[in-house]
Amino acid sequence: MSIMPIRLFGDPVLLTPASEAKDFDKELRNLVRDLTETMLDAPGAGLAAPQIGVALRVFVWDVDEELGHLINPSLDLSDEIQDGEEGCLSFPELRYETRRALRVVAKGWNMYGDPVSIEGSELLARAIQHETDHLDGILFIDRLAPENRKLAMKEIRESDWFGMAQGSGSDPQVRVSPHSLYGKSL
Ligand code: ZN
Repeated sequence: MSIMPIRLFGDPVLLTPASEAKDFDKELRNLVRDLTETMLDAPGAGLAAPQIGVALRVFVWDVDEELGHLINPSLDLSDEIQDGEEGCLSFPELRYETRRALRVVAKGWNMYGDPVSIEGSELLARAIQHETDHLDGILFIDRLAPENRKLAMKEIRESDWFGMAQGSGSDPQVRVSPHSLYGKSL
């Protein structure tokens, strides 16, 4: 297992829709373990494969002291919504109020190729929606109300880390202040 560099906003891999995982082999299980270890090190509440430069539909979470992972997810969202602060490990220190469905049923596979169904509400539902968005190349700033998105873009442009990811390809990334003051990011 290894702790991988987390890709920052500006890295094209974060905007690229990921492919379905087809082979439930050792390599896939190693990816789940690398994601989990990298998330715990950050520390974060969730991490998707594109955030470590792997364009596969795989993500992990650490919510309410429970670790989980899901492969090739499809989501069923509740009509009820929740508003709350959200952050992302690919946007160090940024946190903005983000609207999400309150509950989610996520169907997919575990790393052994068994079908699984995960029911989550509140933070787990938020994490699953955030990570599934990553697999579609959608970032949490895309979900913000227009005025917050403007503020977020300004904060990003003024951040220490902005520009470090531009055209980085597979270059090693330096992570700046992964420890958020307010809580964990995703
Ligand atoms: Zn994220």
